[in-house]
Amino acid sequence: MKVYNTLTRQKEEFVPMEEGKVKMYVCGPTVYDFIHIGNARPYVVFDTVRRYLEYKGYDVTYVQNFTDVDDKIINRANKENTTMQAISDKYIEEAFHDADGLNVRRATVHPRVTQEMDGIIEMVQTLIDKGFAYEDKGTVYYNTKMFPEYGKLSRKNLDELIAGASERVTIDDAKKNSTDFVLWKPKKEGEPSWPSPWGDGRPGWHIECSVMAKHHLGETIDIHAGGEDLIFPHHENEIAQSEAANGKTFARYWLHNGFITVDNEKMSKSLGNFFTVRDIAAQFPYEVIRFFILNGHYRSPINFSRDLMQACQNGLERIKNARKELAFYIENCAETKMTAEETAQAVELEKYKEQFEAAMDDDFNTADAVSVIYELVRFSNIAVKAGVSKEYAGKIQDMLDHLCGVLGVAELDEETISDEETKKIEELIAQRTEAKKAKDFAKADAIRDELAAMGITIKDTRQGVQWFRG
Ligand code: AMP
Ligand code: ZN
Repeated sequence: MKVYNTLTRQKEEFVPMEEGKVKMYVCGPTVYDFIHIGNARPYVVFDTVRRYLEYKGYDVTYVQNFTDVDDKIINRANKENTTMQAISDKYIEEAFHDADGLNVRRATVHPRVTQEMDGIIEMVQTLIDKGFAYEDKGTVYYNTKMFPEYGKLSRKNLDELIAGASERVTIDDAKKNSTDFVLWKPKKEGEPSWPSPWGDGRPGWHIECSVMAKHHLGETIDIHAGGEDLIFPHHENEIAQSEAANGKTFARYWLHNGFITVDNEKMSKSLGNFFTVRDIAAQFPYEVIRFFILNGHYRSPINFSRDLMQACQNGLERIKNARKELAFYIENCAETKMTAEETAQAVELEKYKEQFEAAMDDDFNTADAVSVIYELVRFSNIAVKAGVSKEYAGKIQDMLDHLCGVLGVAELDEETISDEETKKIEELIAQRTEAKKAKDFAKADAIRDELAAMGITIKDTRQGVQWFRG
């Protein structure tokens, strides 16, 4: 299996540290508002990476943090006359709601910064003790000049960075180098704070991930992931902190997803060109958002548009309808075993699996993996039409279950039709069957129209009447 490692800028064979085990850390959101679909991309992409690693037999420990101490959360709390804790609790719950909708499985651990203060203070102290950090009036800075490999992830040269920064006006006097960054900052009036050897205060952003990764996964991890905007400075600084403090390689593979853009500009809060997952979910089912994200390769940009969402909805419906037709066929066809011809053809089925795995083994190419599912759907539709044996239909179904399950898409139990609605639909179908029997075709057509108005399509098959949404 090959993965693209941002550190080496090439695809590398994936070999975890410990056989059969993967330790993975994904930077999570700062919780001061609903997540937008740009933020949803790393959620869905790395959930899929995890699912595929598990499919390959790895035991994956997946850690995704919540940043619950930050200026933005404090500002929002002040605006709403409430506490930082109340704001972050609310938006953590909302983020889980969206993640659940997107079929993103819960991480093994979801650590929060506010619960990791002891580890943070300990790592900052270690960095001071080892000469990588210095304190000035309650602020602790990381001395980037002390870490010779600074810039290795983002391929930036420290001297050029320093020269570039000094051309700008705002240079913090207390910093030894303009590229130095804050590990601990002193308390400001009215802000939450924690006691520390450098006075009451709170941690900088970068230190939290170094500490949470170490606490929950150890000093060296297999995969560290996030959006590509995190490469610099966030991940560069994480490397500087962790490798200086622990004296070991921090992460062996660095994976970064590309942006979701709007009019070819990064979707972001600050530009105001964002759509929250919640808003989009009011227009399209959550599963369409997941499918939309997986329709592209995770490193390529995706330009968000309604048309693209609509096309994804249509594609997803095609897969789901094929799965429903197949399930219906299996439920209602005669108990038959595979014929000799089908046994020979079953090899074809294995080919879809091989193609799917080849796509995913090539740096998680979900776009190609989705194409393989479409081909399998075509194969399934033909088989149903041809009236294959029940055993053979079951094999096709297993394969579809398998492949859709790895991507977490087109799952049939995602159906949002209530029991009450189902009862009504089935009653109408029974009435239509009666009307047809009595040769009252006008009534039968009227019932079909009534169902269509409810968004339900019906299909007469040899096994009986089948219905589905769409
Ligand atoms: P933030 O809360 O801004 O730190 O973002 C949380 C995660 O979403 C990070 O991994 C970001 O890199 C990622 N992210 C933010 N905006 C986008 C975007 N427009 N496209 C893709 N990923 C994004
Ligand atoms: Zn992080």
